[in-house]
Amino acid sequence: MPLDQLSLLTAIALSSAALTITLFVGWLGARHDTYLLSWSSGLLLVVGGVVLYGMLAEGYNATQNFASFALMLAGFACIYAGAIQFRARPLPMAAIAIMGLGLIGLTGVAFLAGLSGLGTIFANLSMALLMALSAYEYWSGRSESRVPMVSNAALYAISAVSFVLCAAVLVFEQRWTLTAQPRNWAEDINSIVLIVGITGIGAVSLTLNQSRWARHHRREAMTDALTGLLNRRALFGAMDVSLAPGAAVIMFDLDHFKSINDHLGHAAGDAVLAGFAALVRSELRRDDVAARLGGEEFCVVLRDLTKRSAAGVAERIRASFEATRFPTDRGIAETTLSAGVAISGVDGEPFEVVLKRADDALYAAKSAGRNRVHAPAPRLVA
Ligand code: GH3
Ligand code: MG
Ligand code: MG
Repeated sequence: MPLDQLSLLTAIALSSAALTITLFVGWLGARHDTYLLSWSSGLLLVVGGVVLYGMLAEGYNATQNFASFALMLAGFACIYAGAIQFRARPLPMAAIAIMGLGLIGLTGVAFLAGLSGLGTIFANLSMALLMALSAYEYWSGRSESRVPMVSNAALYAISAVSFVLCAAVLVFEQRWTLTAQPRNWAEDINSIVLIVGITGIGAVSLTLNQSRWARHHRREAMTDALTGLLNRRALFGAMDVSLAPGAAVIMFDLDHFKSINDHLGHAAGDAVLAGFAALVRSELRRDDVAARLGGEEFCVVLRDLTKRSAAGVAERIRASFEATRFPTDRGIAETTLSAGVAISGVDGEPFEVVLKRADDALYAAKSAGRNRVHAPAPRLVA
């Protein structure tokens, strides 16, 4: 079936125009996601370029052909810039502008020399280059979200190849000067690939954006804003299975914390809480979990106790907290803490059960005079 190229170009222009609007509306709702604006403006330029290119069917005009390529190249450069912004990498704005203008310039020189075929070859290769660079960005970021990132990289890569094919056919046919739009199998493939590619890239990019937001909100809902540790909900969510035998739960409660608030103000109290969290974090391994249960009460779960004891970890945290001075606007804040340690039994135990024992041990530490760690006596292991 012979493909009607004008219909294919119209389909590209319409699907790109729809995406331009979707992305722009997306940006209006989230102004700091600047990549949405880059993608949207890039696609708008591409739509302009495709419309101009489609109009060449009515009569070939080299200047109009160059203008259509210039718009498309500028558009794909913006889309590439958006990919870099999406990866949260610093945007080398000047470098991309110079590269974009350089590619447009190279194409323009060929057109000026009357070699519209050569100019078309340059334009196709330049678009392939910009798409390949975008593909590389998504490929490099695949650890964030493997399937959509790799799919996006593949869609950009296939689109890049389809542009290379268009250039290759012109080189093969030695069409250095055009008198009409090139019509060949590579142009047909390129148009079909772009209809699928641009729509697919738009849908995948929006999915990536949504899932990034969902992850962000999930993380926020799990994090205590003041200390950056897990909050109570996240701790209980993470500990809904039984603790392995020998895992440890440590409860910490800062001593006479209310008096810091009373004497130095609430902001000083906050600084001490954040400082305590930083100190805890520096003592923990990757597998350990630290959470703020509320107020000035914290819980640490140690799942791997090779080469260290839970009481030892608690005691190190107690000692360094006692030794730390927290400078605040209204003077130095210093205080101590009490801790209770409990160890999960030989068959493993539910987290809540071990936590209750750690809380009892903490209460014992408070009753015994504060600024101490209360831990079960070490048992001999056969
Ligand atoms: P104890 O040694 O018996 O634990 O005495 P305490 O003063 O530490 O305990 P108490 O439970 O009497 O007081 C806890 C205080 O912690 C009361 C509350 O105002 C304060 N607090 C709770 N959350 C925050 C917070 O987010 N920031 C600040 N600055 N203070 C908080
Ligand atoms: Mg307290
Ligand atoms: Mg308390």
